[in-house]
Amino acid sequence: MKYDTIVLATRNPHKTEELRAMLAGLPLTVRDLREFPDCPDVVEDGETLDDNALKKAREAFRCTGLPVIADDTGLEVYYLLNAPGVYSARYAGEDATYEDNNRKLLHEMTQVPARRRQARFRCVIALVGKEGEHLFEGKVEGRILLSPRGSNGFGYDPVFRPDGFEQSYAELDAEKKNAISHRGRAVQELLSHLTR
Ligand code: IMP
Repeated sequence: MKYDTIVLATRNPHKTEELRAMLAGLPLTVRDLREFPDCPDVVEDGETLDDNALKKAREAFRCTGLPVIADDTGLEVYYLLNAPGVYSARYAGEDATYEDNNRKLLHEMTQVPARRRQARFRCVIALVGKEGEHLFEGKVEGRILLSPRGSNGFGYDPVFRPDGFEQSYAELDAEKKNAISHRGRAVQELLSHLTR
């Protein structure tokens, strides 16, 4: 194991719980920025997922002195030339809710037939520590549904059906989604690096 403690560059308890579950069983203490109230919040103004993940991880490493991981995720819809992408959280505006974003996405895709509704989730995880900087990526290809389905998960889960599945992400339970998801795949890459 390269490190015995790692800090997640987030104050979002859901994100920490999800990552903790994925890293469970390893001899690794997982902390997050709620334990470091003096560390500043970072503005996610990068032009790419890599930029944002690195920016968050570098800032938190500078502030905590501990190895940090930070992630950034985007939904890339081919018909929309990879939008919303890095703007996924605020697709329908700065204070947009998940429902607002999904409504806008389905509206933009109203006339688009099933065969042209391909999309992918892409998650980038940056690891920044004394040993340097590393990026890990996980991708899942799928389709944008015609209307929302399911109530699990968050964000665009109800409108995204991963290839090879009949269900939307929001119709899969958390364990199943984590096993196949973009974030799950990026974490697998991170894990093989940490345990190498
Ligand atoms: P973040 O980089 O993880 O904060 O993700 C940015 C935005 O992408 C979120 O606000 C969600 O709208 C969306 N998103 C990220 N991960 C997922 C997911 O697993 N399912 C659905 N939407 C997601």
